[in-house]
Amino acid sequence: MKLVFATNNPNKLSEIRSLLPARIEILSLKDINCNEQLPETSPTLHENALQKAKYIFDNFGFNCFADDTGLEIEALGGAPGVYSARYAGEGCSAEDNMKKVLDELEGEKDRSAIFRTVIALIIVGEETLFEGECKGRMTKTKSGVEGFGYDPIFTPEGYELTFAEMNKDEKGEISHRGKAVRQLVGFLHC
Ligand code: IMP
Repeated sequence: MKLVFATNNPNKLSEIRSLLPARIEILSLKDINCNEQLPETSPTLHENALQKAKYIFDNFGFNCFADDTGLEIEALGGAPGVYSARYAGEGCSAEDNMKKVLDELEGEKDRSAIFRTVIALIIVGEETLFEGECKGRMTKTKSGVEGFGYDPIFTPEGYELTFAEMNKDEKGEISHRGKAVRQLVGFLHC
């Protein structure tokens, strides 16, 4: 089975490839000659994931899926949430986002947070959604060089290491994306 993974993020592509069984061949946007930024303008993770997947299905005609992920921090009222990618402003880097979060959590005792991933799958026009979450806490400083995004400042529940101190397999076993992908795989077995 061939599926396009609708993402412009090479880190996500690499994580997803390592999470899916070999019988599911993942095509990248480059593989289908899509060089555009995908639209991601909705107010919820579900709508954003669907928006990206629909864009590929409608314009390129491939069966595909997209994910949208948000980091929800309790002490910040659930922010950055759906705005996680551009929390420190349009065109900001992961470093900028992490700095903003750490600054806002300065002196805060409750550092609990949840990573949430929604995957939207479109097969011959039929849409299905999957969701995975990973509870944890925000650290006080950055640790580790693996992964991407907010990984250096997030420690999953029951662990002392940040996601950025784990390898891809360790992260995938417990992560929001890993959980959502395992539901997707279960669905595709039907
Ligand atoms: P999006 O799903 O591409 O919109 O990602 C939203 C934001 O969350 C981006 O800043 C990503 O870098 C970040 N992000 C997405 N997935 C992860 C993850 O697994 N770990 C850490 N940060 C992530």
